[in-house]
Amino acid sequence: MIQIDHISKHYGAFQVLTDCSTTVSKGEVVVVCGPSGSGKSTLIKCVNGLEPFQAGRILVNGTSVGDAGSSLPKLRSQVGMVFQHFELFPHLSIIDNLTLAQKHVLKRSTAEAVDKGMKLLERVGLTAQAAKSPGQLSGGQQQRVAIARALCMDPIVMLFDEPTSALDPEMVGEVLDVMTELAQEGMTMMCVTHEMGFARRVADRVIFMDAGRIVEDRPKQDFFDHPASERAQQFLARIL
Ligand code: ATP
Ligand code: MG
Repeated sequence: MIQIDHISKHYGAFQVLTDCSTTVSKGEVVVVCGPSGSGKSTLIKCVNGLEPFQAGRILVNGTSVGDAGSSLPKLRSQVGMVFQHFELFPHLSIIDNLTLAQKHVLKRSTAEAVDKGMKLLERVGLTAQAAKSPGQLSGGQQQRVAIARALCMDPIVMLFDEPTSALDPEMVGEVLDVMTELAQEGMTMMCVTHEMGFARRVADRVIFMDAGRIVEDRPKQDFFDHPASERAQQFLARIL
């Protein structure tokens, strides 16, 4: 589903990603972790074409992200992305946040888009908030809206970049619950997160990055029981 082949990327003289390769199969859930600045956000942004890269190749469902050209908008709509800071449109109501891209990118009618949006709001337990604006919702609710908004586009893959790290602790669970449900329904997911409880329960594989490289890429049990690299051992000792 996602094939990352020998990706390298630099900003000027600074090498941010070095020869990163991995694949994520259909229905697989991969957690990406590692120290701050190790390139986790950059790697997943490369997957939906938000960041260009200088070497290597990324295929999403067989389409090359780097030279998708005119099909990049279509590709992006198939790759849902959820960020740390929600990134909802603050001046739009919740339901308008959910329908905007459906209408503009997928050319759905308003009725169709609203119907889809309301179904997904129901799924994340927020039907009653449809007419409110993002500022009237808690952080956890806003993040659930952000997930619903991505799902409105019928993505084939979902990417998450630390979706719970800006939340108050009591709201982390409600967002992880939505992500867990998605995983159980078979969504292909790549999640940057330091929620190791989630990784243990839900992930199939864990990728550990350090200084722009994929240092470990292993089934979760192996990763947690026997981290091979010293960096991962130190990281786990600090975080667990
Ligand atoms: P964090 O855990 O803090 O989110 P990360 O693993 O997601 O970190 P990235 O955000 O991918 O790391 O950044 C990797 C490195 O690239 C960092 O050293 C960062 O300073 C650098 N970097 C990111 N964006 C740019 C940019 N636009 N120009 C120059 N350097 C950048
Ligand atoms: Mg990051």
